[in-house]
Amino acid sequence: SAMRSNVIQKTKTVCTFCGVGCSFDVWTKGRHILKVEPHEDAPANGVSTCVKGKFGWDFVNSEQRLTKPLIRRNGIFEEASWDEALDLVAEKLNETRAAYGPDAIGLISSSKITNEENYLMQKLARAVIGTNNIDNCSRYCQSPATDGLLRTVGLAGDSGTIVDIANAGLVLVVGANPAEAHPVIATRVKRAQKLRGQKLIVADLRKHELAERANLFIRPKLGTDHVWISALTKYVIDQGWHDKAFIEKHVNGFAEFVTALAPFTLEYAEQVSGITQDELETMAKMIHEADGVAILFAMGVTQHCGGSETSSAISDLLLITGNYGRSGAGAFPLRGHNNVQGACDFGTLPSWFPGYQAVSDPRVRQQFEQAWGVPLSAVPGMDNQQMVAAIEEGRLKAMYLVGEEMAFVDTNTNHVQNALSKLDFLVVQDIFFTKTAQFADVILPASPSLEKEGTFTNTERRIQRLYQVLPTLGESLPDWKIIMAVANRLGANFTYAHPEEIMAEAAQLAPLFAGVTYERLTGYQSLVWPVAPDGSDTPLLYTDGFAFPDQKARLAEPNWIPPIPMSDEFDLIVNNGRLLEHFHEGNMTNKVQGLNHKVPGTFVEVSPQLAAARGISDGSWVRLESAYGAVKVQVVVTDRVQGNELYLPMNSISQESAINLLTSSYTDQRTHTPAYKETYVRMIVLKDA
Ligand code: SF4
Repeated sequence: SAMRSNVIQKTKTVCTFCGVGCSFDVWTKGRHILKVEPHEDAPANGVSTCVKGKFGWDFVNSEQRLTKPLIRRNGIFEEASWDEALDLVAEKLNETRAAYGPDAIGLISSSKITNEENYLMQKLARAVIGTNNIDNCSRYCQSPATDGLLRTVGLAGDSGTIVDIANAGLVLVVGANPAEAHPVIATRVKRAQKLRGQKLIVADLRKHELAERANLFIRPKLGTDHVWISALTKYVIDQGWHDKAFIEKHVNGFAEFVTALAPFTLEYAEQVSGITQDELETMAKMIHEADGVAILFAMGVTQHCGGSETSSAISDLLLITGNYGRSGAGAFPLRGHNNVQGACDFGTLPSWFPGYQAVSDPRVRQQFEQAWGVPLSAVPGMDNQQMVAAIEEGRLKAMYLVGEEMAFVDTNTNHVQNALSKLDFLVVQDIFFTKTAQFADVILPASPSLEKEGTFTNTERRIQRLYQVLPTLGESLPDWKIIMAVANRLGANFTYAHPEEIMAEAAQLAPLFAGVTYERLTGYQSLVWPVAPDGSDTPLLYTDGFAFPDQKARLAEPNWIPPIPMSDEFDLIVNNGRLLEHFHEGNMTNKVQGLNHKVPGTFVEVSPQLAAARGISDGSWVRLESAYGAVKVQVVVTDRVQGNELYLPMNSISQESAINLLTSSYTDQRTHTPAYKETYVRMIVLKDA
């Protein structure tokens, strides 16, 4: 009755286009979306939204939606019934497991699907198939931030909420572009600047919108953030500006840390990063004088060979200045996808059960074995990059991939596509016939967020409920129903009638979510983890110490991993990132007429200096070539970039212009997150298109 086509309905949902986690009411009549109406009770955004949340939903009614399962027969995709498709999936996965063992199967989950669906994916991998080979797209983005925070402060999430960012005396943004990638957070920062005189420092290669508004904007050389941040930390300590009482009470390893910092002088930092000693002194003084420092960071920090080390250096700086455990302070890795936080929290990671409980810990494993009634593998699984390598080596034979445009979003596209084509069996579950789906043997049609129930967890660690806004389209099904059907075809007995029951099981097994219930998430209510059994939540972390047995933080010693060296042959740096109008690679938003009209294709930003040197101007066509592939794009000349640095937005999934045709297979050393930002090309000017 809730879906009657002649009645106007108003239903609360949570935005699926970025990690800010805006929630709002959607007005509908049948499948027609009348409007998106913000609600003052929305915990992350109140009455604010950005252009994507407000106007980005037409894709749900796109004619390109998958509405029936497809099976590839003799190279051609044919429509099939759910029974046929699921039978084939089960038959092939069983065959693979029987012939090569469970670790010959890999699962890729999605940061766009719900917490409950992620929980089921990892349960399918571990309890039904018998492998820890499960990963999600945080491997492409936030794993280094997770690592840096787990190492130093013990929990993998933002230290506080968006309100805490607004309360900071000083916001330092490193390698992030919130005005386009996290618009409502940028709005909060702009407002705090205007109303409260909040100070803003931006460190970035590219002069983006917040950089223009910053009190201080610095442009470090590529891959040198670790060096200037460590030098800043050393200088603060040398000036005696560190928070001695805080360190004494809450931090381990200070003396050793100070010794290890010795090489990171201001002179050295200037030489390596290009940030002048004056600038560094100014920054140190601003940090010293600020009432609360919040550091916001994203892919500009993480997508490097040393991304994890830079993430821990950020945490170190906050620790020695006492900027944890109070409002207006802390580390804020800005999560990209709407549910990248939740996908990790609910265990679609090769080494962690839900709630960051280690697969290798026998006590933890025993608890899950008891709950699920099966023995579980103690061997940590392969991450995304290891799976691609294992396909190449013939060790990984079959893959079940949910909601991930792996063929274009993973680094080094040509290499990944070659690997995907070698799989014996590939299942792709998505809402559209993606480029990755072209490599599939079976395609399962899923329903987008507006057509299902469940929860998402935003960048603040805030769990929010989505209600079903629209009826499912065609024969598409919510991912949790499909995953459950696959599991049951493989011999499991999953009987969940509603995502609420899945959350109840997760809450029992993961102390971080102990008190999470759907009742406590009714309407616009939300819970920020950790959530105690009585339902009390934790918007601000570390007020009673850090998440280690002795409650003390652990300083990580500085360890700079220099970027991949540049060669004469590939003499330009190509940076990449989002555009305000499009979500990530654009698979959903390029099916929204209004958004696509504003930004129809992609382009490369070229600095005025480089444009003059090469004799090109706005609209010129160029070919960019790296050691791994080539793209053809049109030029936009802008001083947002400088010198030999280019910027190619990631909103293209075309074999002609996708950024990842250029990126390499180098990764962050600790987490295997691709070093997307360390990409070098040469530019060839084309006569015409
Ligand atoms: Fe909010 Fe992000 Fe959605 Fe924009 S894209 S409405 S900032 S959640």
